[in-house]
Amino acid sequence: MSHLAFVNGTVITPDRLLEGATVVCRDGVIESVGRVRGLSKSTTIIDSRGAFISPGFIDLHVHGGAGADFMDGTVSAVLAACQAHVRHGTTRLFPTTTTGSPDEILAMLTACQLAQAQPLSPIAGVHLYGPFFAADKVGCHAATGRRDPTPREWQRYWKTGIVSIATCAAELPGAIPFIKAAAKQGCLVTCGHSNASWAEMAQAFAAGMRHVDHFWCAMSSVPSIRQRLGTPMQGSMAEFVLMHDEMSTEVIADGYHLAPELLEFAYRMKGPERLCLVTDANRALDMPSGEYRFGHHATGSIFRSDGRVGWASGGSLASSVVGMDTMVRHTKRSTTASLPEVIRMASLTPAERAGIATQTGSIEPGKAADIVVLSTKLKVKQVFIGGIRVDTKKPR
Ligand SMILES: [Zn+2]
Ligand SMILES: [Zn+2]
Repeated sequence: MSHLAFVNGTVITPDRLLEGATVVCRDGVIESVGRVRGLSKSTTIIDSRGAFISPGFIDLHVHGGAGADFMDGTVSAVLAACQAHVRHGTTRLFPTTTTGSPDEILAMLTACQLAQAQPLSPIAGVHLYGPFFAADKVGCHAATGRRDPTPREWQRYWKTGIVSIATCAAELPGAIPFIKAAAKQGCLVTCGHSNASWAEMAQAFAAGMRHVDHFWCAMSSVPSIRQRLGTPMQGSMAEFVLMHDEMSTEVIADGYHLAPELLEFAYRMKGPERLCLVTDANRALDMPSGEYRFGHHATGSIFRSDGRVGWASGGSLASSVVGMDTMVRHTKRSTTASLPEVIRMASLTPAERAGIATQTGSIEPGKAADIVVLSTKLKVKQVFIGGIRVDTKKPR
């Protein structure tokens, strides 16, 4: 049926740049990558004019954008936030819950299900993130919406069938049954907003936990464990992630959360196959500076965006206000990672960790034509989801 060919660009594959290669797509699926002799007359040609042909970005951890938070729990809010991220080159994302009441979380899950059924939806599943955080690590989330996991609560969430990433602080009562159940559901299980010790991480790992949210942010360290459990000093989440090859993690690479040496450290220690770039963006993405709510529009906590990053009232950071394209440019600029490695951390690696890499995440035959055309300065020029070009103009 419909043929599409990207020509005259440099294709970014997971391990190299292919200059002058052609990407041919048929019916929304990548058919071939490389030299082609002749294209059929019915083929729509996308002349990339020396730009990069990159896989679309995949975001495991994202709260909102364009004034909307996924926790607002309406289809229109979910669509607005999705469209904002697609404009920044993200073609698959996992709307991420904050702390909140069970009803708020269920409303969010339902709205995401409805939005996912719409054409060109980038929703690949939901990241159940809040509410199962440690009380001393809630960060910018509303503390009243935090609680320990109970089967009664999480079984309601599994029933929607849309949860595919699940976070829980490993030290909470009820964490281990939660982790086991989430892993059985096929979720990527992650530990975050946690002050877990090495021993608690080891138990969680045995139960199926394989990832840690936003490395260095709202997580334990050797000093925090010493404060909690005394001496001898014990390993924390950081050491556990660095020492286990099976563990992956993610960084908020906006330049405001982590200094360049920490991005370089994370990249060198974990490698591009175990480190994901995430936006962790909130509703202030593509919005003017000012006060907003993090999470639900009525019950979420207040933060301030200065147009570069979010700030909680106590002076700590309150997640990012930029898209994945900014994370990609910043990581390329401030680390020694090659361009294919940087793009891998924003596409194939998150796809692999979330279990969608057979369908998307790289420019390879048989995968969905989720493609972003990037300028030589890595600015988003065109976005395609399943071979269909998406409007990337910002609405007025
Ligand atoms: Zn967080
Ligand atoms: Zn977050």
